[in-house]
Amino acid sequence: MLSIWEKEALLEYDFIIIGAGITGLSAALSLREKKPHASILILERGLLPTGASTKNAGFACIGTIGENLNDIALLGEDRVIQLMIKRWEGLQLTRKRTGDSSIDFEQNGGYELLIENKNETLDKINYLNTLLKPHFKKPIYSDATPLIPTFGFNKKMVKGMVFNHIDGQLHSGKMIHKLWQLCGEQRIKIITGAEVISVPESSQKLQVVTQLLNTPESVISFGTSQLLICTNAFIKKLLPDVKVCPARGQVLTTSPIPNLPFKGTFNFDEGYYYFRNLNNRILFGGGRNLNFEAENTIELKITQTVQHKLEWYLREMIVPDKPFSITERWAGIMGFGIDKTPEVRRYSERICIGVKLNGMGVALGSKIGEELALLSIT
Ligand SMILES: Cc1cc2nc3c(=O)[nH]c(=O)nc-3n(C[C@H](O)[C@H](O)[C@H](O)COP(=O)(O)OP(=O)(O)OC[C@H]3O[C@@H](n4cnc5c(N)ncnc54)[C@H](O)[C@@H]3O)c2cc1C
Repeated sequence: MLSIWEKEALLEYDFIIIGAGITGLSAALSLREKKPHASILILERGLLPTGASTKNAGFACIGTIGENLNDIALLGEDRVIQLMIKRWEGLQLTRKRTGDSSIDFEQNGGYELLIENKNETLDKINYLNTLLKPHFKKPIYSDATPLIPTFGFNKKMVKGMVFNHIDGQLHSGKMIHKLWQLCGEQRIKIITGAEVISVPESSQKLQVVTQLLNTPESVISFGTSQLLICTNAFIKKLLPDVKVCPARGQVLTTSPIPNLPFKGTFNFDEGYYYFRNLNNRILFGGGRNLNFEAENTIELKITQTVQHKLEWYLREMIVPDKPFSITERWAGIMGFGIDKTPEVRRYSERICIGVKLNGMGVALGSKIGEELALLSIT
């Protein structure tokens, strides 16, 4: 039962955004730049954002050589270049908003470890650098194979390495914290613990029906003229016809490793495995290709199969000579589509969606938020 005070002051907004991940928070900030006087509300089901934005690995990357070559075969050169530019622009927008120091941004570069097909990939470095030169000025990729012994990787397993000098890394929790803080400064209201359960639309306005953390008696309807849905992997629950496939990513971190011999972001096996230094620890994730069917889920759970494989790679290949223990393990949920392209579009007269970040949202999220905000006001 709502009071007259609540009905008159707390339920109606010009814009409502569902999802307080990087896309939703960025969309809100971009909206505020265009609409200084609008009322803006973000509704988040978790007490903290509960999708991918605070669960990821914090790679601020435009794409590894292997990933880009695979994508070119799938999507063609133009679409891959556009995607790389969007990732780059998204990252610059995030950095401009937050400042590098508040998100621990470091540009240590990114490396792809070549386990198989070493020569095939190294031979493509020139091709990709030439293709990207008009957009990124300097060559991006270079052969870093001679660094393998310095980094201490198992030389029998890691046969080659390609360096990308513009990739970076950041602290995902600090990034969301800062975006959240900026939303507060910009008079953007965030309500957490509010799961949107339906979005009935009439010609006059749109109702956004929420309930508090699975308690049916707490249902509240908010009204808005424009709704922006930024729930990525979870959009099907609200709009079942939007095709986004959930994909779980599992992560672990090691204890501090004295004199850890490498810095930067690393990936191998077509990007299905990724690790980075987190100061002198290793954060390592991936392995969903071990069982796609089981990992195409929205269940935030870790599994023995994936966690064992991650530990195996750490001990056998990444830091074979150093003792460590595992201190943290967690999972997050990404949203994928076959065409690897984010979906930013008007869904109906009052609903716009910005979803399907395809596991690249740390770099892309701000750009997708910006595009979505512009779409919602045109
Ligand atoms: C383990 C892992 C590692 C990753 N590593 C990287 C990386 O290193 N670099 C990179 O670029 N990308 C990485 N990603 C992907 C990246 O994190 C995502 O692409 C990005 O965070 C997506 O942001 P988003 O805001 O669109 O979605 P999300 O962060 O998933 O946000 C959606 C939000 O909507 C909320 N929500 C859902 N349904 C409802 C509802 N009905 N009502 C209210 N709220 C709702 C969710 O709780 C969630 O907080 C990784 C992802 C994972 C899981």
